[in-house]
Amino acid sequence: MKKSGLCLAGLIATLLLTGCGPNTSSGPADGATAGVDTQKVYRWKLITTWPKNLPGLGMAPERMAQNLRVMSNGRLDIKVYGAGELVGAFEVFDAVSQGTAEMGHGAAYYWRGKIPIAAMFATVPFGMNAQEMNGWLHYGGGLELWRELYEPFNLYPIAAGNSGVQMAGWFNKEINSVADLRGLKMRIPGLGGEVLKRAGGVPVSLPGNEVFTNLQSGVIDATEWVGPYNDLALALHTVAKYYYYPGWHEPGPTLEAIVNKDAWDSLPPDLQAMIETASRAINEDMLSEFTARNNSALQTLIDEHGVELRALPDDVIAALRAAAKDVVAEAADENELSRRIYDSYMGFLEDVRAYHEISEKAYLNMR
Ligand code: CA
Repeated sequence: MKKSGLCLAGLIATLLLTGCGPNTSSGPADGATAGVDTQKVYRWKLITTWPKNLPGLGMAPERMAQNLRVMSNGRLDIKVYGAGELVGAFEVFDAVSQGTAEMGHGAAYYWRGKIPIAAMFATVPFGMNAQEMNGWLHYGGGLELWRELYEPFNLYPIAAGNSGVQMAGWFNKEINSVADLRGLKMRIPGLGGEVLKRAGGVPVSLPGNEVFTNLQSGVIDATEWVGPYNDLALALHTVAKYYYYPGWHEPGPTLEAIVNKDAWDSLPPDLQAMIETASRAINEDMLSEFTARNNSALQTLIDEHGVELRALPDDVIAALRAAAKDVVAEAADENELSRRIYDSYMGFLEDVRAYHEISEKAYLNMR
């Protein structure tokens, strides 16, 4: 407000004395910004489901806001809030829907209680990995369906992050057979939580900033979070002994940026394009960061903290896979749109799987 007010009040005088931002001396923009008020500053709030400044997940929206500030010459001035600062982690969807904040950052599976099929836009147990999710969303019709799903909630979703394949999680007892899942109280969101339930476990829904204390106090027996890099940041190795892989429940979860539709519609096209582009950039950037950091974090967990790395047994994986098939199919039954989303996802998965058998998978197996 101050910046634009000064500029409008006395552009030349204040430009010389105080400056009006890095690019106010340039001429009117051309193309898409013709007719746009290039002095107007949009001060937005972005609320997240993550602990403030958590490496990886929490820093992604911070970086996105910083990029948008630079790209827009300060016209998009977005302040980022961690979970609990303005609203609780699981209130982000409603708060952005209602306009309490203009933007949010989280994961679609957190809204499964409100929209069961939304979880498919985050991740599906035994489903697509990061590369495949990006293909489906951006070139396979997924993003259009996601926007149709969120439209009645006055929200505009954009893919904005991916962790890659996660870890199965942290356990204080060994999982040697399906019987060890019975009664297991585990923090696990999304469709994966429902799968665990079918396999005899007790899924618990907790935001990231409550995971540590609940595991420490024994309220839960186990938790999944993300992978070595982010799990080390939450110090989960100090409250659990065994670290299991692979993350059958989250093989490449997409994170979301959600924009209040009224706020989105109020933006000129150039700023809308910047948000789309900055979200796509952070979508790729997060995967790069996790790819670069996970291995050294895992070595630190094993070598310096004595963490015991374990693979889930084959029969446990088989039981979870069988339960997942039913859980995912049932998510399609709610209405006509959920059926179309399910069919689109599964159709894409079948096609991409066939090619990846002889490309990505064949290569990784022979490397
Ligand atoms: Ca997770």
